[in-house]
Amino acid sequence: MRAMVLEKARQPLVLRDVPKPKPKAGQLLVRVSACAVCRTDLHIVDGELPNPKLPLILGHQIVGRVEKIGEGPTPESADRTSEFKIGDRIGIPWVGWTDGDCVYCRSNRENLCDRARFTGYTIDGGYGEFVVIDARFCFRLPEQYNDVDLAPLLCAGMLGYRSYRKTGDARRLGIYGFGNAARLIAQVALYQGREVFAFTRPSDKAGQEAAKKLGAKWAGGSDDMPPEKLDGAIIFAPVGQLVPVALRSLAKGGIVVCGGIHMSDIPSFPYADLWEERTICSVANLTRRDGEEFLEIAPRVPVRTETEIFPLEEANTALNRFRSGQLNGTAVLMPPR
Ligand SMILES: [Zn+2]
Ligand SMILES: [Zn+2]
Repeated sequence: MRAMVLEKARQPLVLRDVPKPKPKAGQLLVRVSACAVCRTDLHIVDGELPNPKLPLILGHQIVGRVEKIGEGPTPESADRTSEFKIGDRIGIPWVGWTDGDCVYCRSNRENLCDRARFTGYTIDGGYGEFVVIDARFCFRLPEQYNDVDLAPLLCAGMLGYRSYRKTGDARRLGIYGFGNAARLIAQVALYQGREVFAFTRPSDKAGQEAAKKLGAKWAGGSDDMPPEKLDGAIIFAPVGQLVPVALRSLAKGGIVVCGGIHMSDIPSFPYADLWEERTICSVANLTRRDGEEFLEIAPRVPVRTETEIFPLEEANTALNRFRSGQLNGTAVLMPPR
């Protein structure tokens, strides 16, 4: 099968003909129909995340159809392959495997599993024609979306949703970095009656207009103070300087949620900014429950995605345009038919 392969960090992906993967017991072989590009893919290519599998097939927002079901007994207690049949459309997210056995898995925090494996990072992902996955970690997908529109929901949407949930019942919600995840989750927040305050790069007037059009109560530069104190703020931009900035925009008891997997260093700030029970936290990965909840709510909103389609072989173009901010939606790769 054809795949775009990362052979070494900080080098372009290479189009390779690689052996089609074989599903073991408990796994599914999936024919990829669409795979959205995530900022995490950029961090991996740019060598900002440690120890990826190499060579690696990137991609963890995958929509595809079951092509083959692995056979044989599995040692895992919860083999789910029997729930699927050939041709079923499924979604494959970032978390590709957990041990089900560590202190985190046993306390409903599988997102923190000590031995977790990640699609398109420590196991091969969806920048190829086929992918093999553990049936326990894939999702059934809502019918009213097509494959391309669904793909960005599988990371930007789900991780965004986990970040959003961490803000509790924050009525006035700030979002720093109004990219893909922000746009998806702002739709859910507005649907649930929250007020959204959007922060973009100071010069990004177009981004601010887009946020207002989406329904944000206010939009401004990340160096602006919002007109009202916020109950919660999510930072999607990988910019550590925004943490103290967001903290200063909070009302008492407010929370800053850092929603990215990678962020530059956070500068120091006075304790007074954290005082009065303000909180800073990060969000790591997702649980299957987060994903299921989000896929349940998304079609009711309904959450709309904006995408730009690239043929699989043009993955490097998609990554480069993403890096330089030249995309008008989430890049989605489509393998040749
Ligand atoms: Zn575990
Ligand atoms: Zn992602």
